[in-house]
Amino acid sequence: MRISENIPTSWCEPWKIKTIEHISLAPPEIRQTALESAGWNTFLLPSRLVYIDLLTDSGTNAMSDQQWAAIMTGDEAYAGSKDFERLESVVQRVYGYKHLIPTHQGRGAEHILSQICIAKGQVVPGNMYFTTTKFHQEHAGGVFEDVIVDEAFDPHSGCPFKGNVDIEKLDRIVKRVGAAQIAYVSLETNVNMCGGQPISMANARELHAYCSKRGILVMLDATRAVENCYFIKTRESGYEDKPIAEILSELCGYTDGCTISGKKDCLVNIGGFLALRDDGLAQKAREMVVAFEGLHTYGGMAGRDMGAMAVGILESLDYAYIRARVEQVGYLGKRLESYGVPVVKPFGGHAIYLNAKDILPHVPQEQYPAQRIAGEIYLEAGVRTMERGIVSAGRDHDGNEYKPELELVRLTIPRRVYTQSHLDVVSEACARVCRRAESIGGLRMTYEPGALRFFQARFEPV
Ligand SMILES: *Cc1c(COP(=O)(O)O)cnc(C)c1O
Repeated sequence: MRISENIPTSWCEPWKIKTIEHISLAPPEIRQTALESAGWNTFLLPSRLVYIDLLTDSGTNAMSDQQWAAIMTGDEAYAGSKDFERLESVVQRVYGYKHLIPTHQGRGAEHILSQICIAKGQVVPGNMYFTTTKFHQEHAGGVFEDVIVDEAFDPHSGCPFKGNVDIEKLDRIVKRVGAAQIAYVSLETNVNMCGGQPISMANARELHAYCSKRGILVMLDATRAVENCYFIKTRESGYEDKPIAEILSELCGYTDGCTISGKKDCLVNIGGFLALRDDGLAQKAREMVVAFEGLHTYGGMAGRDMGAMAVGILESLDYAYIRARVEQVGYLGKRLESYGVPVVKPFGGHAIYLNAKDILPHVPQEQYPAQRIAGEIYLEAGVRTMERGIVSAGRDHDGNEYKPELELVRLTIPRRVYTQSHLDVVSEACARVCRRAESIGGLRMTYEPGALRFFQARFEPV
């Protein structure tokens, strides 16, 4: 017997599988027709023709037996449901905000926050934009200005906290327009649009000190705050031994409220909320929620969904869970890297991003290289991914296309859904597409919707 000297200590998922859902790979000619009928937009593909679905981690979570139990015991009272009370007490305890306003999903919360906090013409500085967040800020008359650190725009930078706010950039805006003209600072955790990159606790603390001195509110997009806290624990000194719950509580403590899409961190399929510290703002939010979402004790969610979310939030704080979650994403990143596929580093918390500019250097950004690669990955192996580049960025007020530095393809990992073997298949498909990159061209847009165009735009190869 010769046992190796190097026996690693691997992580594994702190759960086992009780129910399965069948999937199968459609034949190549069916995939070709499906992609053409979808106008080369992976959002328009029917799920039944998708083999491995990495379109999004939004609402694609697998729930636990305890969450399903909460579904069965849900209290569907119109007003004052037991599950509202259950969720409210979990949100108060875990995130630390006094007021909970449930909404049908994250954008419902963003709509209400933007309407109550932004006056026409006010500036909303943020650490990179998120599509629906910026839409609601602009819809309320606000002007979004990006204050993320420069490293965020560099897919080759190894900076551990690429999501951080550049306080000097913020200070220049504050000096230019005055603190009163700032609606609030919009602070996102694990910044989606730059690759799921975290903010550091030191940065949140510094931002809080800067803003509170000037009477500026900080509103957290806590959609992926728990995943961000895993990176703080593993990358920021002083946090190695702290429980995730404690880190999250400190992080939220530096902010005045949050919006959350429950479809991500909270391990449910639908739901979201706005949480606020201030009584007056909460009152305004409650007045709005009844008009746009539902009564302030359900806000568009069924009682059972609030119950499942309350359980999901507590499950998300378990270190064994969050480690398996984030490390599984890293596993895919390492596989892709081993084949030489250009990926954004460090690996994000919910997704791996392919760098389309490096894969298709011969395709100009106006021909949507990342959109094209997403289509090719589907053709190759029935794997659905999505574009995060020029299509997602949309157009400015004058109708010109924003040309973001980052032209990426996002491979988003649903929580507790796929195994490492699924990710092996995915990485091999991406590597095969990259091998034939020289023969791949661009796309032209044949239909462009007015807002959030990436969801419904249509394309054809040039
Ligand atoms: C998904 C998401 C939202 C919007 O939430 P929905 O539930 O999809 O409406 C807002 N911010 C971030 C960072 C998100 O990822």
